[in-house]
Amino acid sequence: MSARRGHSILRKNKIHNRTHRILALVPVEHAPSDTSDKSENNSDKLSVNDDPLNYLYLFFSEDIFTDLVDQTNLYSVQQTGRSIQVSENEMRDFISIHILMGIVEMPCYLDYWSNRFRYGQIADIMTLKRYQQIRRFLHFTDNNLQDSGRYYKVRPIAEKIRRNCLRQENENKFSIDEMMIPYKGRKAGNRKQYMKDKPSKWGFKNYVRAGVSGMIYDFILYAGHFPSTKEDMGRCKFCQKNTTVYCIKCNVRLCFVTGKNPRNCFLHFHNK
Ligand SMILES: [Zn+2]
Ligand SMILES: [Zn+2]
Repeated sequence: MSARRGHSILRKNKIHNRTHRILALVPVEHAPSDTSDKSENNSDKLSVNDDPLNYLYLFFSEDIFTDLVDQTNLYSVQQTGRSIQVSENEMRDFISIHILMGIVEMPCYLDYWSNRFRYGQIADIMTLKRYQQIRRFLHFTDNNLQDSGRYYKVRPIAEKIRRNCLRQENENKFSIDEMMIPYKGRKAGNRKQYMKDKPSKWGFKNYVRAGVSGMIYDFILYAGHFPSTKEDMGRCKFCQKNTTVYCIKCNVRLCFVTGKNPRNCFLHFHNK
């Protein structure tokens, strides 16, 4: 555990008078371990004793916060010539504000800071002005590295969350199905889709491998590219092993294997 990480999560000097700061409440020893090393230990595995914050960190790991900070600061420089110098702690606050906004919903984000409806759990964490500043420049990837993928703006973060999902201990039985990530906004163009049979009908189509418990272990975030199966076996275009799975859009055979040694050639093929 690095001193830097422990310090940035705990913020000892502020925690006593700002106990509502939900993302700051984790003790240092409970902070998530570096997720880059698979064999290190088991502390990144899910356990029934985990508190909600640990649970969040299993998927939204430390390195994702670092990326958010780097990319947001970079984007502010690209746009204005000056960095807004958001810190990792501020980014944690920003994310915690959004989690709270999903629980205590108000018609407009300005309401949380308004005189009439002021909601201290959010308004006390950050000034409205700072919140708007981070919101304006929030970025997940360097625009200069743009590729043709439809999700390139969130791809690096989505890939890291996926990697964290893959690291969870697998169950024995899986279900593979389409899932909807709810989104009702207007800024996603044709990435936003409609599925009439889902609880959230509008959003981003996601193809997931989930366990019986509902936990997601793998997913594919590709609009229009979804795996289906053929009756006969054929060689996977990526790894050459036999498979019945293929991409309905590219009409190319690609494995999507579950179980003890999962293999997702479907994703690797579309990522290359
Ligand atoms: Zn394959
Ligand atoms: Zn495809």
